Amino acid sequence: MQTDAVIDRAITTALEAETRIEKGTFVANALQHHIASMVRGLLLLDRQESDAYETAGVEEPLRFESGGWKFNGKIDRIEKTPGGEIIITDYKTGEFKKMGSTLRKRVLATLDEGENSDWQVPIYLSGYRDKDRKRATAFKHYVVQPGEDPFHIKLFVGAASDELPPEAAGGGGKYKRYSYVLTSELEDIMDVAESVAGQIFGERVDFPKTEFTSRCRNCFFSRLCGREA
Ligand code: SF4
Repeated sequence: MQTDAVIDRAITTALEAETRIEKGTFVANALQHHIASMVRGLLLLDRQESDAYETAGVEEPLRFESGGWKFNGKIDRIEKTPGGEIIITDYKTGEFKKMGSTLRKRVLATLDEGENSDWQVPIYLSGYRDKDRKRATAFKHYVVQPGEDPFHIKLFVGAASDELPPEAAGGGGKYKRYSYVLTSELEDIMDVAESVAGQIFGERVDFPKTEFTSRCRNCFFSRLCGREA
């Protein structure tokens, strides 16, 4: 299908699904612009991948248990390579200026419970198993930001760095950026995820509440800490 036809169909579908948006309004025009730019970016990235995968699932719910805690998510798209390898893909349409190495750093920052860390990648990679109980071999972000060149950023998963494909060492180019994460690192990250879940949702007898109650107004944890804002 021609690019313009794909864009028109995506815009029509989005506007039909969102009945509150009136045609010709600022919101409708902005949405139209956003969708057009996103679809163009995705098609361009797809051309770079030429036949390297088939789509094995879209909007797939991810649910798994680890250490007695339930983790949930939704996978934007699952790709299957001709060799049967599974790649979890995720679309990013907001600001996302990362190289492969910086995404790897952010994933590993979860080990120190750093604020500037990325939980989605390790949790999705750790939790995904296909019908044959196979793990995904990579996680890929499709980054399509309006007004910017699209690119994809891919983290390969392997047991040891010397078993990974050469691209995993880093680099890439205008449209592709690479890095890796080891299975042992994913296991360590899940240990931290379980301990963080325990700190947030576990039984708590003495929760240290802030004295500055204005902070509680928009706090997600107000019901857990007992201070309903
Ligand atoms: S509502 Fe949030 S900010 Fe306020 S005391 Fe509880 S955890 Fe702290």
